[in-house]
Amino acid sequence: MKTVETVEELRTLLRPWRQEDRHIGFVPTMGGLHAGHESLIRRANSECAVTVTSIFVNPLQFSPSEDYDRYPRDHARDALLAEAAGTDILFMPTPEGLFPASPLTTVSVAKLSEELEGASRPGHFAGVATIVTKLFNIVQPTKAYFGEKDWQQLEILRQMVEDLSIPVEIVPCAVVRAEDGLALSTRNSYLSPDERRAALALVRAARAGREAAAAGGDAAVAAARILEDEDLVTIDYTAIWRDRMMVAGWVGRTSYLTENIAIREEAPRP
Ligand code: AMP
Repeated sequence: MKTVETVEELRTLLRPWRQEDRHIGFVPTMGGLHAGHESLIRRANSECAVTVTSIFVNPLQFSPSEDYDRYPRDHARDALLAEAAGTDILFMPTPEGLFPASPLTTVSVAKLSEELEGASRPGHFAGVATIVTKLFNIVQPTKAYFGEKDWQQLEILRQMVEDLSIPVEIVPCAVVRAEDGLALSTRNSYLSPDERRAALALVRAARAGREAAAAGGDAAVAAARILEDEDLVTIDYTAIWRDRMMVAGWVGRTSYLTENIAIREEAPRP
């Protein structure tokens, strides 16, 4: 695995694959890598001639009151995990390297970015869309891998690629969960043992919503009922949105967590 910091180094390294028209796979992350990220990297590695993983804690997607400063940044550990999962090129730009001056350009996907998580975190999805566009322009991948864990983000990025005719295939990857069912997330590391237990209410709520929907009931109400019973969770939303049962809330005082599951059972990927 080669680790590079600058856009120039990355472009030089990727030139041979581009010239030979081979598949360039790209896995953008913010670090704090876990088995969810690893599954994306493994999939990219199995489908592409070269796999690029990026680690960049994107300041554009955090509001001033959020956790930008305390977001986990353990570059040595992340590099080991990225390599073990099959990364060929690890791109770790610095904020100054990517943004030598404050950018004036924003990419934002209307409507989808204002719903659900977007309503509670104004500007968040524009920050995501802008950095992903920039990283796509830097890496110019043929395939880019995103987790269904962040379903709203995935739908927004699919829309963006379609609307702007960005020549990349977005590959959705299944949610990787801990043994007790909670979706793996870098932010789970913030949770105290009690909060970690309370976070499971989000999983139960999503399942209750799916079951209510299957029985012809009100999914949002069924899910909300579960969250209301958990003192450490403050609901943000419960909703069926684009074929998924979506729930989110604050666990403890600071941790914002989201969960989503397919409303219909999906056939496993061949
Ligand atoms: P992040 O570093 O949190 O920005 O996530 C980078 C990518 O990994 C995004 O496409 C996420 O959706 C994906 N991801 C994060 N957690 C999981 C998970 N538990 N299962 C599958 N994909 C995930």
